[in-house]
Amino acid sequence: MDKERLRQLLHEQNFRLTRERESLLELFVQSGRMLTPAQLHKWAQEHGARVGLTTVYRLLEVLTKVGAAMPFLVEGNIYYAFCSDGHHHHFVCLSCHRVHELRECPSFLHVPREFQVESHRADLFGTCPHCQSAALGDAAGTGLTP
Ligand SMILES: [Zn+2]
Ligand SMILES: [Zn+2]
Ligand SMILES: [Zn+2]
Repeated sequence: MDKERLRQLLHEQNFRLTRERESLLELFVQSGRMLTPAQLHKWAQEHGARVGLTTVYRLLEVLTKVGAAMPFLVEGNIYYAFCSDGHHHHFVCLSCHRVHELRECPSFLHVPREFQVESHRADLFGTCPHCQSAALGDAAGTGLTP
């Protein structure tokens, strides 16, 4: 989803993108991982975006509503990740919390014939390649910090 379209969608939800809010959104998009509202708030503050926790909650709520964010419930905490356009699934790394979008549909479900499926959702949780090699003692890894 391009920026203008997203801005328009947020505007329709009465969420005006001020400069501070825009950098908050930018940080969220660029993080590439799932974050709790508190984590995003802390991160925004560290990057000099002066937004309140209420604004963070509101942004995540509105983004979720327009389909640009996806909530994940992991060990009792609600995390949010930015979600791009088009049908896709998510692979969530439980070590570094990076979220990868999978464009191919997983096919591990057997649905009895009498159920008529209209749509589907599936999010997968596990360990990403980077964290797997880190676990093997490959400290050099890819040079990416988790
Ligand atoms: Zn997504
Ligand atoms: Zn990982
Ligand atoms: Zn699918």
